[in-house]
Amino acid sequence: MASVKVAVRVRPLNKRERDMKAKVCIHMDGKKTTITNLAGEDKDFSYDFSYWSADSSDRHFSTQEQVFEDLGTDVLQAAFEGYNACIFAYGQTGAGKSYSMMGQQTAPGLIPRICQGLYSRMQASGDDKTEFRTEVSYLEIYNEKVGDLLRPAKGREKFNLKVREHPKEGPYVQDLTKHVVKDYDGIETLMEEGNTNRTVASTNMNDESSRSHAIFTILFTQAKFHTDMPSETVSKIHLVDLAGSERANSTGATGSRLKEGANINKSLVTLGTVISALAEASENAINRDAKKKLFIPYRNSVLTWLLKDSLGGNAKTIMIAAISPADVNYSETLSTLRYANRAKNIINKPTINEDPNV
Ligand code: ADP
Ligand code: MG
Repeated sequence: MASVKVAVRVRPLNKRERDMKAKVCIHMDGKKTTITNLAGEDKDFSYDFSYWSADSSDRHFSTQEQVFEDLGTDVLQAAFEGYNACIFAYGQTGAGKSYSMMGQQTAPGLIPRICQGLYSRMQASGDDKTEFRTEVSYLEIYNEKVGDLLRPAKGREKFNLKVREHPKEGPYVQDLTKHVVKDYDGIETLMEEGNTNRTVASTNMNDESSRSHAIFTILFTQAKFHTDMPSETVSKIHLVDLAGSERANSTGATGSRLKEGANINKSLVTLGTVISALAEASENAINRDAKKKLFIPYRNSVLTWLLKDSLGGNAKTIMIAAISPADVNYSETLSTLRYANRAKNIINKPTINEDPNV
């Protein structure tokens, strides 16, 4: 059994916040994150990691590398041991989700670093009795519909893919392209292609990236021929950049904007419901209250359905809550800290996905 690991990361004040003369209302000390309201009252939260990335001159400053060392290496370890793994980034638009997950050319985030780590570990393994296979897919959920970010631009119809459920392998997206990649350069090319497809769409669709969820998936297979009985382990790694969490709260929007808002709400709100239900189920299990079997509404949204195995199921799961340091964002930030606090209580049961004699 393994608890969901939760990290909170605070970015620097941005120009808008500085122009507004916003004050920093977040403080961190070890694992503790403290938020202070206008009256000077503190609320404390404790997480597995509290990352201070607000001020690079601070000696406690957390770099992209540090975040990878703590969280990314965990995912690599899980993948090589044959477990599924998942990292999802939650938080208000502009709080630093994409920065942590994808990063920038000069400051790569978790996704490029995990991919790089995968290849360097394969090379370093020096194990000629294991064959590795790496496949990548990259999708986007917008308005509860799924689009393939890696389908060749020609004839690419966005957001028309269906989610189905395999009795043994679980939920999957029908017709989503899977790309076999031989080296890191191959993954990098796909990553860039997918990111471009996501950005191109956003200029057409009213800042789509704040409304859509992006899921980068690595399917990592190890075929082992150490004995007469070959065996195979398959690990699925989901790296998820969620829509802005403000979409889970009330909006004053009307008409088609309301529809978009309502649909985005559905995946994020369902994620919240699923997290609460899983946390409660985990508490019941600890108290040996197994009779109280809780229904977890995974299938109520596309996001939670696809991440079913990663949420309270067969996976090592990590949540990164990205927050702004500014007092002007106090209420969104507090709601993110509370959301992250609930996720801490989930206990997963990862098992190795081994298929002997294949
Ligand atoms: P989101 O994906 O949550 O909407 P972004 O990751 O795009 O937010 O971040 C918004 C802005 O803040 C970007 O310009 C990004 O470069 C910057 N930023 C976010 N996190 C950090 C960080 N830890 N250090 C430096 N800059 C950051
Ligand atoms: Mg983003």
